[in-house]
Amino acid sequence: MASFDYESYITDIPDYPEPGVVFKDITPLFADAEAMRRTVKDIADHFRDAGVTKVVGPEARGFMIGVPVALELGAGFIPARKPGKLPRETYAVSYELEYGTDTLEIHRDAIQPGDRVLIVDDLIATGGTAAATGKLVQDVSGVLVGYACILELTFLEPRKALAAAGDQELYSLV
Ligand code: IMP
Repeated sequence: MASFDYESYITDIPDYPEPGVVFKDITPLFADAEAMRRTVKDIADHFRDAGVTKVVGPEARGFMIGVPVALELGAGFIPARKPGKLPRETYAVSYELEYGTDTLEIHRDAIQPGDRVLIVDDLIATGGTAAATGKLVQDVSGVLVGYACILELTFLEPRKALAAAGDQELYSLV
């Protein structure tokens, strides 16, 4: 875990998007230039020597954090998108979400065999999204280096879901 007080930039929103759910709003962290800079640098520093060639970010907050991390690592960025959003041939994966189910797609030619891939998202809750994205990467012969997020909801035990998909590391700031 990092030393910067990332938590103070994350706001709890009760009963959003539905009653009983406490939504973690990370937009204040992105709105603060220094907090955003540290977030990107912390994650990139952690994986700097891992030979990452591609960063994959799930729609949509995974784009916000994935693109600057990719730039910082000198890697490419690949969006994992909701169904029907990508214009060329895709691979798809469906998975359970903290609230509901969802599907993500990536372009078939986005990852080359041997690409070293880091998956980045804002928040990992059950780990379902990250594990599904990891499966997608490995299905197309990418080498999954690990997962990174700003906030890990440890009480939902996402590391169990990730461990079931492989033994790659999860690095979380909070
Ligand atoms: P998981 O699949 O259960 O790990 O949920 C993580 C995915 O849902 C990520 O793509 C998050 O962006 C999104 N998500 C779930 N809960 C929250 C939340 O409280 N705040 C922001 N994003 C969330």
